[in-house]
Amino acid sequence: MRQVFVTGDIEDLNHLARQVFVLRKRASHELVVPGARFYICSLSLKTVVYKGLLTSNQLWEYFKDLGNPAFTTYLALVHTRFSTNTFPSWERAHPLRVLAHNGEINTLRGNVNLMKAREGVMKSELFKDSELKKLYPVVEPNLSDSGSADCVLEFLLHCGQRTLPEAVMTMVPEAWHNDKTMPQEKRDYYQWASCAMEAWDGPALISFTDGRYIGAILDRNGLRPSRFYVTSENVLVMASEVGVYDVEPEKVILKSRLKPGRMLLVDTEEKKIIQDVELKLKIARSRPHSQWLKEQITMEDIHKSVASANGTVALNGSPNGAIVGLSDKRLALFGYTIEAINMLLVPMIQNKKEALGSMGNDAPLACLSQFQPLPYEYFKQLFAQVTNPPIDPFREKIVMSLLCPIGPAANILQPSAQFVHRVFLPQPILSLPDLHALKTTNHRGWKTKVLDCTFPYAEGPLGLEPALTRIANEASAAAQDGYQLIVLSDRAAGKERVPVSSLLALGAVHHHMIETRQRMKVGIIVETAEAREVHHMCVLLGYGADAICPYLAFELAFALRNDHILDPNLTDEDIYVAYQKAMETGLAKVMAKMGISMLQSYRSAQIFEAVGLSEEVIDKCFKGTQSRIGGVNFEILSQDIFDRYALAYGEMRDALVLRNPGNYHWRAGGEKHINDPMSIANLQEAALNNSSSAYDKYKESALESVRACTLRGQLELVKLDEPIPLNEVEPASEIVKRFATGAMSFGSISLEAHTTLAIAMNRIGGKSNTGEGGENADRYLNQDPDYNKRSAIKQVASGRFGVTASYLAHADDLQIKMAQGAKPGEGGELPGYKVTEQIAKTRCSVPGVGLISPPPHHDIYSIEDLAELIYDLKCANPRARISVKLVSEVGVGVVASGVAKGKAEHIVISGHDGGTGASSWTGIKSAGLPWELGIAETHQVLVLNDLRSRVVVQADGQIRTGFDVMVAALLGADEFGFSTAPLIALGCTMMRKCHLNTCPVGIATQDPVLRAKFAGKPEHVVNYLFMLAEEVRQHMAEVGVRKFQDLIGRTDLLKVRENNDNPKARLLNLSLILKNALHMRPGVNIIGGSKSQDFQLEKRLDNQLIEQCAGILDGTQKHIDIKMKITNEDRAFTSTLSYHVAMKYGDLGLPDGTTVNIALTGSAGQSFCAFLSKGITVTLEGDANDYVGKGLCGGKVIIYPPKTSSFESHLNVIVGNVCLYGATSGRAYFRGIASERFCVRNSGCTAVVEGVGDHGCEYMTAGTVLILGLTGRNFAAGMSGGIAYVYDIDGSFKGKCNTEMVELLPLKQNDDLNVVKTLLKEFVDYTGSLIAQDLLKTWPTPAKNFIKVFPFEYQRALKTLALKQPAAPKMETNGKGDNGVQDIEEAVRDIELDKKNLEKILDKTHGFIKYPRETSMYRPAEKRLRDWDEIYNFNHVRRGLRVQAARCMECGVPFCQSGHGCPLGNIIPKWNDLIYRGDWKQALHQLLQTNNFPEFTGRVCPAPCEGACVLGISEPPVTIKNIECAIIDNAFESDWIKPEIPEHRNGKTVAVVGSGPAGLACAHQLNKAGYTVTVFERNDRPGGLLQYGIPTMKLGKDVVARRIKLMEAEGISFKCNIDVGKDISATDLANEYNALVLCMGATWPRDLNLKGRQLNGIHFAMEFLENWQKKQMGPTHHHQNKDNPELSAKDKNVLIIGGGDTGCDCIATSLRQGAKSITTFEILPEPKPTRGQDNPWPQWPRVFRVDYGHEEVKVKFGNDPRKFSTLTKEFLDDGEGNVRGVAAVEVEWTRGAGGRWEMKEVPGTEKVYEAELVLLAMGFLGPEKYVANQLNLAQDARSNFETEKNNIYKTPVTNVFAAGDCRRGQSLVVWAISEGRQAARAVDIYLCGKSSLPGPGGVIYNH
Ligand SMILES: Cc1cc2nc3c(=O)[nH]c(=O)nc-3n(C[C@H](O)[C@H](O)[C@H](O)COP(=O)(O)OP(=O)(O)OC[C@H]3O[C@@H](n4cnc5c(N)ncnc54)[C@H](O)[C@@H]3O)c2cc1C
Ligand code: SF4
Ligand code: SF4
Repeated sequence: MRQVFVTGDIEDLNHLARQVFVLRKRASHELVVPGARFYICSLSLKTVVYKGLLTSNQLWEYFKDLGNPAFTTYLALVHTRFSTNTFPSWERAHPLRVLAHNGEINTLRGNVNLMKAREGVMKSELFKDSELKKLYPVVEPNLSDSGSADCVLEFLLHCGQRTLPEAVMTMVPEAWHNDKTMPQEKRDYYQWASCAMEAWDGPALISFTDGRYIGAILDRNGLRPSRFYVTSENVLVMASEVGVYDVEPEKVILKSRLKPGRMLLVDTEEKKIIQDVELKLKIARSRPHSQWLKEQITMEDIHKSVASANGTVALNGSPNGAIVGLSDKRLALFGYTIEAINMLLVPMIQNKKEALGSMGNDAPLACLSQFQPLPYEYFKQLFAQVTNPPIDPFREKIVMSLLCPIGPAANILQPSAQFVHRVFLPQPILSLPDLHALKTTNHRGWKTKVLDCTFPYAEGPLGLEPALTRIANEASAAAQDGYQLIVLSDRAAGKERVPVSSLLALGAVHHHMIETRQRMKVGIIVETAEAREVHHMCVLLGYGADAICPYLAFELAFALRNDHILDPNLTDEDIYVAYQKAMETGLAKVMAKMGISMLQSYRSAQIFEAVGLSEEVIDKCFKGTQSRIGGVNFEILSQDIFDRYALAYGEMRDALVLRNPGNYHWRAGGEKHINDPMSIANLQEAALNNSSSAYDKYKESALESVRACTLRGQLELVKLDEPIPLNEVEPASEIVKRFATGAMSFGSISLEAHTTLAIAMNRIGGKSNTGEGGENADRYLNQDPDYNKRSAIKQVASGRFGVTASYLAHADDLQIKMAQGAKPGEGGELPGYKVTEQIAKTRCSVPGVGLISPPPHHDIYSIEDLAELIYDLKCANPRARISVKLVSEVGVGVVASGVAKGKAEHIVISGHDGGTGASSWTGIKSAGLPWELGIAETHQVLVLNDLRSRVVVQADGQIRTGFDVMVAALLGADEFGFSTAPLIALGCTMMRKCHLNTCPVGIATQDPVLRAKFAGKPEHVVNYLFMLAEEVRQHMAEVGVRKFQDLIGRTDLLKVRENNDNPKARLLNLSLILKNALHMRPGVNIIGGSKSQDFQLEKRLDNQLIEQCAGILDGTQKHIDIKMKITNEDRAFTSTLSYHVAMKYGDLGLPDGTTVNIALTGSAGQSFCAFLSKGITVTLEGDANDYVGKGLCGGKVIIYPPKTSSFESHLNVIVGNVCLYGATSGRAYFRGIASERFCVRNSGCTAVVEGVGDHGCEYMTAGTVLILGLTGRNFAAGMSGGIAYVYDIDGSFKGKCNTEMVELLPLKQNDDLNVVKTLLKEFVDYTGSLIAQDLLKTWPTPAKNFIKVFPFEYQRALKTLALKQPAAPKMETNGKGDNGVQDIEEAVRDIELDKKNLEKILDKTHGFIKYPRETSMYRPAEKRLRDWDEIYNFNHVRRGLRVQAARCMECGVPFCQSGHGCPLGNIIPKWNDLIYRGDWKQALHQLLQTNNFPEFTGRVCPAPCEGACVLGISEPPVTIKNIECAIIDNAFESDWIKPEIPEHRNGKTVAVVGSGPAGLACAHQLNKAGYTVTVFERNDRPGGLLQYGIPTMKLGKDVVARRIKLMEAEGISFKCNIDVGKDISATDLANEYNALVLCMGATWPRDLNLKGRQLNGIHFAMEFLENWQKKQMGPTHHHQNKDNPELSAKDKNVLIIGGGDTGCDCIATSLRQGAKSITTFEILPEPKPTRGQDNPWPQWPRVFRVDYGHEEVKVKFGNDPRKFSTLTKEFLDDGEGNVRGVAAVEVEWTRGAGGRWEMKEVPGTEKVYEAELVLLAMGFLGPEKYVANQLNLAQDARSNFETEKNNIYKTPVTNVFAAGDCRRGQSLVVWAISEGRQAARAVDIYLCGKSSLPGPGGVIYNH
């Protein structure tokens, strides 16, 4: 370190100062060389900066001159900080050259980028251009946020023609936008100044000096503490605490604080303090800012300019024609999905806000997705965590603003009117007319350049990069050519031109223009079809967009309105306004989660991390963005564009509806989800039955999902060739101790689910977590060893629900929840209707009163604050381990190391994919990062800092299997959190309806009816976790590690998965997470928690207290008085005493009559009297810092100024910020002013104070507060309960109160008057308050100046309580899902909307509870058995259809379309919803997307979908099949079904053998794809079993004929009466046609070769049915059907052997033919009426059913025809060769060894059944053999045609395929259709290389 002296022209000191500045800057730019360290600490004529990595005490030792008495100064700015930087550096230490900063600048990247861009338009009168250039870049590289701000401030000071205070005001403006009380000239000034520079936004206390002035400014939201004293000796001391400077009390003449946005300034030359008001007004008046502001441009000006020039123009539609609704090709081109339209876009317009979702995000990361995600999806929003607080954008909207000036920026160095020559947009979303006006305006000579962001299709994917370069160059050129606005437009996209992604184009342009210093000359507007969601807008704004017009979203909404999907009465303007409002809320929320309050500052700030984008993409478009794992390059992004293009304009003949890959909700054939139906079902089966085989299946399906979705899935374990013996591996009982369940609060889940989890975790020695909702004392005080409901982990979240001394004292872990994985940076709310009596009790609140969790902890705005809370909690329970829950994002490792330095003992790193009860989809999908990145970074950084041994690290987020646990451990985790999986084990089906209170399995609901359905047991969770631990052990054996501890951090046991077939995944570079931390810092102790944190509890003042209170604590003493002195080093005073009280006396504090009185003098340290218990009274003469009475629970705190003080208490600050935060009961009396956020989240204490700062009583839910002086702004925001009485001295209160949730009433009622009077008296008694004395003198006269603040919700709740009704009325909502549901994120009630919803008749949200399932779908049996017509009662069914559709809950994981459900993957929830809404046509399209012949399945399908429907768990399932049938029948009736003749034929031919459903579906699909298809059928009519098999009663043959006719009209030729293999050779066919598809069915019937089989009258069922049906059909010209009396049942005793569907058809046919009697034999036992344990949902329920034939027999003959457990022994001869009967015996089924079922005959049950006709209906044994023989085609063990393993429809014979029953074995029509469809796709791929035909679930892949 060197000290240098510079000399120069001392005549002109200003000039010299500038010269010195240039010198310093040049030196900093030019002398910095790699490897050498060079930094000029300060080079100034007036100040000297001393800095070092020193503790305060070391300062004097190190800088000897500071200890020299000769060294004097008239000012000193001292900064000492808790270093949150991992590697603190001398350069970064404060003070910097002009400022010292306590805070965080959240908008840094944008500020720095824009500062750089500004260099292009800067000119100075003081510096020549050449000199100015030497100062660039203004912000030197690699500085901290404070360092960067310091550079800019210093620069403005020297070059900007501004004083230091003005420069500071420019950078850190007050919240002026919404402050109506601010003088107009000051607002004008701020507005003018905002055009010079966007704010440097974030929590900040900035102190600054230039040698003359010294001052400080606080951020706009007051997020840092700042207190000052002025003494009678004319000394001003300002610090973040009181008590840092010792001064006798009588010398203090003022005790005050800095308020939000305010500045404190001392002019040392004039020797005076300049007040904020005076200072700022002076600055505001220093130039004619208000006058200048008149020159600003508004949108109105722009519109006017255009209207006069052009008149009106058509604004809608693309150059390729106006939008045509959902069939518009551009929707597919830009990746719109039906799901996003329905779940995001439509609700935005309907409700003016974003829709909510729940249960987290479990879909693949964009960089793994196979469904062409848009580039936006690769970006994850960053969020504030620990070092800076998020903001509540709803309750603290006074600080939020979306106002943005756009267009050319002026020279910032020359303050002028030019600053405002820009367009001021109130928010960034432009309507179509706005955009048109901006494009065409020439207002004030402005010109707008529209840049085409498309390129010719013909250029192919390689065209993307050159197009980006071209656009960037054109933009730069336009700026140089004097254009003021640039519009980046993808309007020209269409068939000829493909779009460049708007985001890529914008990023490339923005960064290119910054580099070329052109950016500030123009405004950039994005005209985009691509962007439509909140997240899209955020990314665009974050990367530099000034304004956005999402035109396609608007045009689509207009079309939906025209189609009546949206309210037809909406005007275009209404639609725009609704969308824009929703966006506004969404944007504010995203900004707020990063702690940014102004859009102007959010813009360009790049607050994102990219996951899976390559360096080339980042470099070109998103410079400066973190992208840690590399990933997709331009080639892939471009290919995705072309794939989307192909979906839109390619030959997608079967794309009836927009593609829905199931991004949000799982759907068949779409994106994989971690929680897919198969895994859920397997897990439930495993947990329920403790079945390891089911667990193995689960493990497999889960691994498949994990591979498709997550980063860990791209890794695999490095296994030994020979595993070590399993018995040497640590036992599972030890491993499970590392497991914890996630923080799910009672309130978000039911009490039953919550306690079950706790019991389970206690049983295994793991830990359960209370979540943020508290825990009732009876759960932890009375512990039953087997059913212990105590949660070991007790959470302390921002809402502080139920956080009492006793709650804290009874925890093993106390967990501070900083953020939640699914929605980091966001708060939450439990709406009043969910707050039951029990919840209210647990959360220390009132039933029916809503409970809000604020986004930040209001006692944690910085790492120091967190350290304080950690300390407080440790004091409140010295036994507990203090845990901090963080969410993964870039830099979480640094935060974690700060947290470890702050003495946390346990850190949770949550992944982005964790679950949540409710959040907007933007939050769920787009914020936070995978835990793999977070755990790896945390472990590495902690090891590097040698902090790893001090903390235990837990991984959390969608951890489901032993493999997940292994990866997390190997990356560095010690413990593991499980949330979703244990819930699934308890019955959760991932319905994703948690936010609706309608969870059908009783987990995420408080509805008693639904809670009763909860069927989970602790053993289910125990089973699951033990099986998982066993899986871990197996992996451990395989990798050769015996002790779990030895796994931790062993990244060498992980490797990147080989042979990864996902091309995107192959581009990822995971080396960063696979680094072994011990290689970075060898030899460090990495055993988490092995070194304890030193809290220095032995030094606590509480120890003396506890000693003195020994008698109280052991119950031998009743009262004690204690006197002490206190200093600000004594923090959390009394918290440990309260701990001992709680341990001894439980929740209620000291017993009545036992008291502790403590009298103190001095300045108390932070968290004074935190969690103070009942019975303890603390009186302090002096003052106190922040957080007094935090979590007060019963105690009494009294503070008044020293009696010797001369100041007036009501004008001085007595306590700091956030006092009484989360207090639950007790009393507080503060004589003086409390700073910001007094009584936030108070839920029961009574407090009296003489004035409060901003945000008083925020989120309060109960308690009483009396304020005898002024309040700050935003009083009562989010206050749902309790009462505040405010003495409104100057009448200003109303203007400062946030009245969204409260009513302001006069103080008139006697009750109120008495309450206030009593409190005044108490206040006088305790504190001697003069104000209170004055008021009492004339009471009740002064009552007229009091205002009672009374929340609406509280009023309602009190009324309810008074009426003794149980809790608040349940909120009943009607209508579609989210529409009717209170947005629990926002307390702002939408009463109009509620009313509208109540008017609707059908309630879909609760439909499944309210409406019974329709059961009578058939005509009455007695009627129908007399005819051969279809049995269905169509009219009846049709009438109740909407109600039935309303029973469908549109599940998040619709099991109805899963593997257990509909084989076609029919999009059931979608069409159910459409029918509910009455949109039959769209429903038809959805149906036809997956099912070629719903008229068949709708009649004959046994509906496995209904068997798998989630409702079936506890209710009758949704009626699906009827709805399907009605949709298609209605379509035929409405003449909507027309032959669809393909436009092109591809010249290729395919022969299909067999015309059953498989053959028909295959032919249908191939024909659509342009093939010439011929179907060969050996029967006389096409249709297979549809025609001759399934009887007319089930499927009318006219229905079959209608379809065949249509297909013929579409160009398919049917050749009947040709038996392939006999009439023509199959080999010839294969040669003649390009492909041959065998769909020949399973026609080989199973026989029963018993004695007498040869007798007449014994037939296969099919012979009987076919014969009859042919007879019914009448003769064809090919075939003469002869009557065959032997095959008729008339007047015969009929016996049918085989009890399946075929048997039933034989029953019904015989009955109608006139059988004498009918009996059927079923060898299996009679099924039970309900599912057995071995047949869990969603498997097909093997239960007793009565099918149509059985019912008919019962009606006719009085009995059910079925004989179960009956074995045929012999056919009996009548002596003439005819059958006369059958000998049979009953059998018994038992489980033998190995669990297999065994059958035994029951002796003595032999019986003879008479029968003249015996029908064998025992199924089929595969296809007949002759065709196989001819083709040399192998048949498998089950006699089915054998096909290839990886191409299951392709046989090994060239060009021969197989599908349907002949491949799959005897099955169902629906399976046959599914097989036919997919075989067609396989043929298409075989013949054309790829296919545009849909895959499973109707999803089109185009590859
Ligand atoms: C009586 C009965 C009732 C049923 N009821 C139902 C029900 O209610 N619901 C349900 O979902 N499923 C039912 N099924 C099952 C269902 O019908 C079949 O799974 C389905 O029809 C199989 O379709 P497929 O196209 O594979 O074969 P099939 O429908 O059997 O069609 C095969 C076709 O190939 C023809 N063929 C065979 N060999 C040749 C050859 N060499 N040359 C030319 N043509 C040839 C046959 O004549 C036949 O037309 C029932 C089955 C039967 C037997
Ligand atoms: S085809 Fe069958 S399984 Fe599929 S939806 Fe229709 S009835 Fe259900
Ligand atoms: S049909 Fe059943 S399983 Fe399917 S979405 Fe509706 S409620 Fe869920």
